[in-house]
Amino acid sequence: MAYSEQTVTSIQKWSDKTFSFTTTRPQDFQFENGEFVTLGLKAEGKLIARAYSIVSNNASNHLEFLSIHVPDGPLTSRLAQIQIGEGVWINSKTTGSLTLKYVQPGRTLYMLSTGTGLAPFMSLVRSSETYTAFERIVLIHTVRTVKELAYKDELESLQGERLIYVPTVTRETFHTPVRGTELFKSGELFAKHQLPHAHPEYDRIMICGNPDMNKDMTDYLKQQGWTMTNHRGIGNFTVEKAFVLHHE
Ligand SMILES: Cc1cc2nc3c(=O)[nH]c(=O)nc-3n(C[C@H](O)[C@H](O)[C@H](O)COP(=O)(O)OP(=O)(O)OC[C@H]3O[C@@H](n4cnc5c(N)ncnc54)[C@H](O)[C@@H]3O)c2cc1C
Repeated sequence: MAYSEQTVTSIQKWSDKTFSFTTTRPQDFQFENGEFVTLGLKAEGKLIARAYSIVSNNASNHLEFLSIHVPDGPLTSRLAQIQIGEGVWINSKTTGSLTLKYVQPGRTLYMLSTGTGLAPFMSLVRSSETYTAFERIVLIHTVRTVKELAYKDELESLQGERLIYVPTVTRETFHTPVRGTELFKSGELFAKHQLPHAHPEYDRIMICGNPDMNKDMTDYLKQQGWTMTNHRGIGNFTVEKAFVLHHE
């Protein structure tokens, strides 16, 4: 594993709990859209590194990340204070199960995310290869407060026939005050956007959220006859944790 020090080139604060930043891109740094990398900061000579999904797409000459700010988190208590021009250590190895290789091409690609779980999907919706593999993309992002709807303006501007952006907010007044998973399960999502009901034969699903949402949606989809991509083969849905609960 090789870390190289990259320079922070911009910072965007979304809410008290979330921010994005861009960095220079290491030479020869290759990745698939939707993958994650390990990055960190050095404190008292020791590297504190964590997994981060890459928000930028692989055609871009910088790297972009969307981060939570956990006040007592070993990494993010420090990362939230970072300034433009300072360094972040980024590993050269990328991986992840939310790339186009993890599902077959199909009719509609549903992306279900909560919080910073939006990050890998930003990379995918910014990439033309995603639109080549699917007729349509439906990106569902559920957060607690309106400010946590990171990239809302960009997503609204990308929206059109090929991309349907569905933001939902659970703890503040908003036009869609329900969880994305509920919209999907109740069928309201399909009715509201005049979509054919999601079907395992034609459609594909990517999930990146908190542990409860991942489990809830995985159990539901399996009951409905969907198969998850794993070491045995490519299914019609694929899941990745947006973070790990350390007391799990
Ligand atoms: C595959 C993978 C991809 C990830 N991608 C991202 C990403 O793109 N952006 C990002 O901010 N984090 C991401 N994470 C989480 C990240 O690795 C760290 O946990 C996070 O940066 C907090 O680090 P920390 O050292 O401050 O606190 P930690 O000690 O790592 O976490 C403390 C606690 O904070 C909570 N927590 C951690 N991360 C989050 C989060 N993202 N959202 C809500 N609660 C959280 C959990 O309860 C956790 O137990 C990812 C994790 C995994 C496994």
